[in-house]
Amino acid sequence: MITIKNAEQIAKMREAGALLYEVLQKLREVVRPGMNTMELDVYAQRLIRQHHAEPSFLGYEGFPGSICASPDDMVVHGIPSETMVLREGSILSIDCGLVLDGWQADSALTVPVGEVSAEALRLIAVTEECFFAGARAAVAGNRLGDIGSAVQTVAERNGYSVVRDLTGHGIGREMHEDPAVFNFGTPGHGLRMRSGMTIAIEPMISAGTWRVQTDDDGWGVRTADGSLASHYEHTLAIGEDGLPELLTLPGFSWAAWDAQQAKGE
Ligand code: MG
Ligand code: MG
Repeated sequence: MITIKNAEQIAKMREAGALLYEVLQKLREVVRPGMNTMELDVYAQRLIRQHHAEPSFLGYEGFPGSICASPDDMVVHGIPSETMVLREGSILSIDCGLVLDGWQADSALTVPVGEVSAEALRLIAVTEECFFAGARAAVAGNRLGDIGSAVQTVAERNGYSVVRDLTGHGIGREMHEDPAVFNFGTPGHGLRMRSGMTIAIEPMISAGTWRVQTDDDGWGVRTADGSLASHYEHTLAIGEDGLPELLTLPGFSWAAWDAQQAKGE
């Protein structure tokens, strides 16, 4: 069931989103070669609780961490661990969720660890580009297939592939609500979007195959051919004006983004 949120509820989600933005920025700043992903997890949990929020990943279907920390060929759902030590040249996807005053926020980014290859940086940049193309299509009156198609088009134009086994999702009081938000699709197909919908769009992009396999721990999802993968996610609300507001990216402006796109083309 899709739950439509009113302005007051979206305001609550905006607060949760702003806090999660701060947390992820702080995590991004401390990533360095030699640290382990449990250190990141402990830091994330402390930041979240300091602000009277709760880490929503912790205990979710038994997940043992407050973040997912997924290096290199791991797409998502990496369990934070003292033995997972970050190496110079790796890329690390950090996914985090929190609940503040009953409302969820969910966001992910991929960061370079020290100096990384130009190809790794390009994968990170294209994955972010995929997100923004998809989010730009998340306007009232459009359909979910417009989001998926926009993400897929940017990925494939750059020679990458879209991981298909995992999707974005509705979000609100629950971290995962309907609908599933696919990162591939056909324009004009799927559920029609409307004001008050709140969703997380999260492209998971592989430099090689879109096929994935799950680690023996039952969580970590890796590309089947071992190629690099990147993940980028924001929680957004379709506002009264029909436009998507990025709740986990405070201050973001579509007008500025549109102008930049126009300049680039
Ligand atoms: Mg997430
Ligand atoms: Mg998510």
